[in-house]
Amino acid sequence: MITKDLYERKELRQLVRDFTRREIVPHLGRWERDGEVPRELHKKAAELDLLGIGFEHGDLVDSVALTEEIIQSGGSSGLMAALFTLGIAIPHIWQSGNEDLKERFARPAIRGEKIGSLAVTEPGAGSDVASIRTTAVRDGDFYVVSGEKTFITSGCRADFVTTAVRTGEPGYQGISLLVIEDGFTRRKLDKMGWHCSDTAELHFDNVRVPAKNLVGEENQGFAQIMRQFQVERITMAVEAYATAQRALDLTAEWTRNRETFGKPLIKNQVVSHRLAGMAQKIDVARTYVREVAARVNRGEDCVTEVCFAKNAAVETCDEVVDAAVQLHGGMGYMRESEVERHYRDARILGIGGGASEVMTELAARRLGFA
Ligand SMILES: Cc1cc2nc3c(=O)[nH]c(=O)nc-3n(C[C@H](O)[C@H](O)[C@H](O)COP(=O)(O)OP(=O)(O)OC[C@H]3O[C@@H](n4cnc5c(N)ncnc54)[C@H](O)[C@@H]3O)c2cc1C
Repeated sequence: MITKDLYERKELRQLVRDFTRREIVPHLGRWERDGEVPRELHKKAAELDLLGIGFEHGDLVDSVALTEEIIQSGGSSGLMAALFTLGIAIPHIWQSGNEDLKERFARPAIRGEKIGSLAVTEPGAGSDVASIRTTAVRDGDFYVVSGEKTFITSGCRADFVTTAVRTGEPGYQGISLLVIEDGFTRRKLDKMGWHCSDTAELHFDNVRVPAKNLVGEENQGFAQIMRQFQVERITMAVEAYATAQRALDLTAEWTRNRETFGKPLIKNQVVSHRLAGMAQKIDVARTYVREVAARVNRGEDCVTEVCFAKNAAVETCDEVVDAAVQLHGGMGYMRESEVERHYRDARILGIGGGASEVMTELAARRLGFA
């Protein structure tokens, strides 16, 4: 099978499994309570070259393998969001080929020295990116930025924020990307899941930003954002089926050990068949997402398939984490059980990076149905 060979990456997988079990699993509970992961974790991941995958070395297929292994070894989608925020913060900079921006922001992020965020969403504009209102007005060698961004991953810790701003006319044609380092205020947001990943609202009040921090050309931001969304959506799809796989593994073990009415739970056919059904859905989602990721990696135009991949994996994940909590009984509802965290963490996957309905609408348009 092509996808299996393509995704073997045995050494990388072993490296990531060891890293996760050594540096993440023993501390994740504390980071969930702290509301963020420490900066040293970025440095440790960088020492193993994990933060440079997809940029300085490796490709999307390596990145898929890394995501699978971190989550299936006891990490979480929230941990991925916190530690790999550079995956959404620097690709536009990398693609722009601007050596100055790469040197000041992208490479320090890859070395784990700086934390970057991507700020697109605003209180009044989420799914509809083209309607953002944060303005950047040119003033000599600066842009003056005013507006608000919200739900920004790693926004509390960020040393730089790749920010979508309006430099031109209303609509998608007037958007640019600008890297902003300071001069704005931050408010930490409390949320349902992804507790180890800090999320912030950012407020910009006439913030002066050097014009040399413009990423790519002025008013080309919308296209840059949409191009990178492909990779973000694939990553979220992988997070979804990997979370489902982890939840299934934990649940299979639980049902083998837990006895009710004088026998292990798994000895009830309704339970073993439910586990088999979960495994079937995960395998179907994984196979499809991996195949689409390989196509994106080859540079093929497969926007429709990326929509299908994200939605299929998210549906699978939602169903599996729900069943995992159910089969854990009361313990599934307790903070001390890992499936409880996956249940909460999974909820964002069908909202962020393009909500499920938005994915379906995009696919419908691509297919000529809408
Ligand atoms: C934990 C977390 C982390 C995030 N991190 C970031 C980040 O780092 N950077 C960033 O820029 N953003 C980030 N976001 C924002 C995220 O991308 C948005 O929440 C998402 O795009 C949806 O936008 P919205 O919340 O404004 O919902 P809205 O656009 O108001 O949509 C609300 C709901 O309506 C439905 N809907 C929307 N449009 C349609 C339609 N056309 N047809 C049918 N139904 C529709 C969907 O169900 C959608 O969930 C994050 C969000 C969360 C919760």
